[in-house]
Amino acid sequence: MDRPVQPATALYLHVPFCASSCDFCSFYQEQPKRGELDRFLATIEQELALQPPGRVETAFWGGGTPGLLPADDLSRLGEAMVRAAGQPREWTVELAPSSVRADKLAALKALGVTRVSMGVQSFDDATLDALGRRHSPKQVMEAWELIEAAGFASRNLDLIFAIPGQDERRWTEDLRRALALKPDHLSTYCLTFEEDTAMFVKLSQGKVKIDRELEARLYRGTWEQLEAAGYAQYETSNFARPGHACRHNLITWEMGSWIGYGPSASSQWEGRRWTNPANLDQWTQGVAAGRPVREQVKELSAPDLLCDALVFGLRLNAGVDPAALAARFATPLPAGITRLFADLAAEGLMEADGPKVRLTGEGRMRADAVGVAVLERFD
Ligand code: SF4
Repeated sequence: MDRPVQPATALYLHVPFCASSCDFCSFYQEQPKRGELDRFLATIEQELALQPPGRVETAFWGGGTPGLLPADDLSRLGEAMVRAAGQPREWTVELAPSSVRADKLAALKALGVTRVSMGVQSFDDATLDALGRRHSPKQVMEAWELIEAAGFASRNLDLIFAIPGQDERRWTEDLRRALALKPDHLSTYCLTFEEDTAMFVKLSQGKVKIDRELEARLYRGTWEQLEAAGYAQYETSNFARPGHACRHNLITWEMGSWIGYGPSASSQWEGRRWTNPANLDQWTQGVAAGRPVREQVKELSAPDLLCDALVFGLRLNAGVDPAALAARFATPLPAGITRLFADLAAEGLMEADGPKVRLTGEGRMRADAVGVAVLERFD
């Protein structure tokens, strides 16, 4: 198999602990107990030492709630990562408002963390309640003050819209309150109903409903409000002030290489994709035995990578250059893709810009369906 060119490398580290479960969340997480935290830290150190990635350009600690770890544990984890992967140029750590403390932020700053991302979701008590989220708007404001004082190079807020009970007025107010904090980056996600979540159960029981027309209005309203405030959209759900786009996410959307550590973390590395077990015991046992367990292992062919580079690249406002991607992965574009792009353009969902194609606003709202159509051309 030809090894495709891999332009940039990223490291993802999954910290699988949360103080409580949010109703919409399907990420792997456990209740934090001291013994489990120690086991996790010791195993991550072993996993990093067993398969060190070499120098990476970016690192991202997600979860779970990495910011739940005490300051000493954050330092221990960060030092282990830097020993194995060097000092990343961009290093993001996710925080939850209820667990932000000055000593933790100081530990992260001392490690060289450049970017923090706080999962706010909403500033409205009733909306937070509908999400089963256990922080208060007051905690968000207190956490933000500490984050500002710590002086990170880039600060992101995550928000969610189309939450049951949230109309356009409430969402506009959430955005207004987020903008008042002047973050460098904003991620705004439309609520999704993932299987095995409390929110999905409510949907199946008819207790909540999906309103696609409201979702479309909220998408459009978000894009207008953020653009007017000086935030450039660079992906369907992501907006940044100049110079603050998240490089780590761009590496994954542009089909670079990333390696994941910790339970449930996914990797795309050296022409192969896999996922670590979403189970602390299984993950620990594999690493302790010197043979990390890898699930859903897939050897990646050049057409696989070309297909995914098109699907994910089309979510970016910059669009993609199909011919350049075909050359990068040394494989031809499939028959029918030019016709598909012409049809999408005729429907007003896509536009050409020199050698590039990109989705229009309407197209970005239907990016999932466009992705499926692209995939079908590769079958
Ligand atoms: S949304 Fe974040 S804090 Fe809530 S359960 Fe999921 S990972 Fe934990």
